[in-house]
Amino acid sequence: MRYLAISDIHANLEAYETVMAAAAPLGYDKVLVLGDLVGYGADPNAICDRIRALNPHALIRGNHDKVGSGVESSEGFNAVARSAIGWTYDALTQSNRGWLAALPAGPMAVDDLIEICHGTPFDEDAYVFDDLDALRAMHAARRPLCLFGHTHVQVGHYLSRDQFGLSTADDQRPLTISLDDASRYLINPGSVGQPRDGDPRAGFAIVDTAAREVTIYRVEYPVAKAQARILEEGLPDVLAQRLAQGR
Ligand code: ZN
Repeated sequence: MRYLAISDIHANLEAYETVMAAAAPLGYDKVLVLGDLVGYGADPNAICDRIRALNPHALIRGNHDKVGSGVESSEGFNAVARSAIGWTYDALTQSNRGWLAALPAGPMAVDDLIEICHGTPFDEDAYVFDDLDALRAMHAARRPLCLFGHTHVQVGHYLSRDQFGLSTADDQRPLTISLDDASRYLINPGSVGQPRDGDPRAGFAIVDTAAREVTIYRVEYPVAKAQARILEEGLPDVLAQRLAQGR
């Protein structure tokens, strides 16, 4: 089985279309979506429509999906995120808002190998920022391979009997991480629509369960077009600017 894993699309239609076009020739059977379909970007309805039509094998909500659909208040958001999510709530059709509101929380088991979550397996809203966070998340995961999002940083941690480390120490992309049976893995496929690791290219991953490997990819997309859409909708300028920096 080959799974396409995507996360943190954030209503960036240009990035989403580019990722799907890049993933198609690589070949995959099913799609896993790790949450944050909306928020920040200018095309929340187009993204919801496309994901609904795609009908992913596994799909969980992110914090922006909760707030953007009215499930939760924007209390914990900073000023820019709050302004964007207010706009998102108003922009969403009633149908898409209702659909987003009904998305399940992670973690969600996909098969014997994989589970997905937005933030961590113990708290959908918690961030994995450092090694301690990663270890805690790996211990909470009920599958050897836990795919997560939320940080918008494409990264892979591993934990074997006596070693803990980064599978992504090499910054080359695409990068294939081989999964050995004795280790646990915590891998972020990267953000499709708002990367924050200094690389503005859209991120995604393909998990091949037969080959026991995960490959992470980055792909250039029309950033200027996504920026123009953000400004056109009157969203905060900084949301357009950060896309070019990948911050
Ligand atoms: Zn996000």
